[in-house]
Amino acid sequence: MNNDLAIQAIDLTRYYDKLLAVDHISFEVRSGEVFGFLGPNGAGKTTTVRMLNSLLAPSGGKALIFGHDICRDPYAAKRQFGLVPEESSVYTELSTWDNLMFTARLYRVPAGERQRRIEELLELFGLEAKRKEKAFALSKGMRQRLSLAMALIHRPRLLFLDEPVLGLDVQSAQLIKDRIRELNDQGTTIFLTTHQIEMADQLCNRVAIIHQGQIAAIESPERLKWAIEGRRSVEVSFDGNGALGPYAGLARVAGVDQTVRQRGKLKLYTSDPPTVLSGVMAYLQAQSLPVTAINTTGPSLEEVYLTITGRALGPLRGKHPGTPCKGCPVRGQCESEKEEQVAQTSERKGGLLRSSCEHH
Ligand code: ATP
Repeated sequence: MNNDLAIQAIDLTRYYDKLLAVDHISFEVRSGEVFGFLGPNGAGKTTTVRMLNSLLAPSGGKALIFGHDICRDPYAAKRQFGLVPEESSVYTELSTWDNLMFTARLYRVPAGERQRRIEELLELFGLEAKRKEKAFALSKGMRQRLSLAMALIHRPRLLFLDEPVLGLDVQSAQLIKDRIRELNDQGTTIFLTTHQIEMADQLCNRVAIIHQGQIAAIESPERLKWAIEGRRSVEVSFDGNGALGPYAGLARVAGVDQTVRQRGKLKLYTSDPPTVLSGVMAYLQAQSLPVTAINTTGPSLEEVYLTITGRALGPLRGKHPGTPCKGCPVRGQCESEKEEQVAQTSERKGGLLRSSCEHH
C-alpha cells in the first residue's frame, strides 16, 4: 500500500450504454496536495469523481484511495475521505447541530468525541450562533459551511470538493478558500472539481484538465502557463465608442502574431513583447493617439485551459491526437497542432505549442 498517494486512478473507464464518458484515464494525487480537476461541461468530471467516491461502478480499470480499492474495499476507502457535493448535502429539516451529530454517528465517530468535534467545527466555520437553526433557514453560504463541517467530522485525510464557492458572496467564498488552505496546511489532501479557473490557480499544486473523457494535461498551474509562454501579450486600452478606428493599425506592428479585440482594449499576442511594445509606442506617437493604459501580460491558466480544450481564439481549435513530446504537460496536442499553426500563420515567430515543447 502506497501511503504517499491519496488517489490512484488506473485505466479508469465508464460507459453509459455506448457512450464512453471516461476513457481509460490514469492519474495520481499525492498525499498533501491540492489537486484541481478542470474540464468543460460533459468532459467526464462528475463521472470520474463519482467513481472515486464509490458512488458509481467503473466499467473498467480501478481506483485506490490511500491504497484501498474503491470496489473491493469500499468501506475502508470511504473512511479516508469526506465529500462536499455541489448540491448541498445538508438535511434541511435538521438543525445545524443535529446535521453534524447525525453525520458523526454515520461515520462512527466515538460517542465521547462527538460533542467536542462538533464544537470545534462550529467555531472553525463561524456557525456557533446558528447551532439550533434548522438548515432550511440558513443562507446558501452558511449551508455550504455546514456541508464542509459535516464532511470533516470524521477527520478525513482526503476531501473532495465540488464547486465549493459557486454562487457564494465574496466574503463567504473567501472564508471557504481560507479554510481549504488551512486544512491543507494541516495535511488534508484536497481534490477540487471546479470551473473557476482563478480559484484553481490560487489553490492548486497541480491541476488535471479532462477533455472528452481523457486527461488532456496534468501539471502545476505554473508549468502549464509556462508551456504556452509564447502566448504573452501587450494590452492597449483606450477610450472610445467601441470602434477601433485608427487603433486597428496596431495589428500590423512588427512582432504581433494575433490580435484580439476586447471592450476598449486591443490584445496583441506575441512571443516578443519588447519589440511589440516599442512598435506600439512608435505607432501611437506617429498617429497622435491617446491611450489609458498599456500592459504586458503572461498567459493565464484560463488561456491554457481554453487552448487545451480547443476553444482558444485563433488558429488552435479542436483536439489532435498527435504524439506528445517527452515530458510535455500538454498531452496529445504537440505535433499536429504545431503543424496546423505553422501552416496557418507562417510568419509567426513562436507558435503556441511549439514553445510548449521547447520548454521540456
Ligand atoms: P459538467 O461540468 O456539465 O457537470 P462533467 O464533466 O461532470 O460535466 P459528466 O457529467 O461526467 O461530465 O458527463 C460525461 C458524459 O457522460 C456526458 O456526455 C454526459 O452527457 C454523459 N452522462 C453523464 N451521466 C450520464 C447518465 N447517467 N446517463 C447517460 N449519460 C450520462
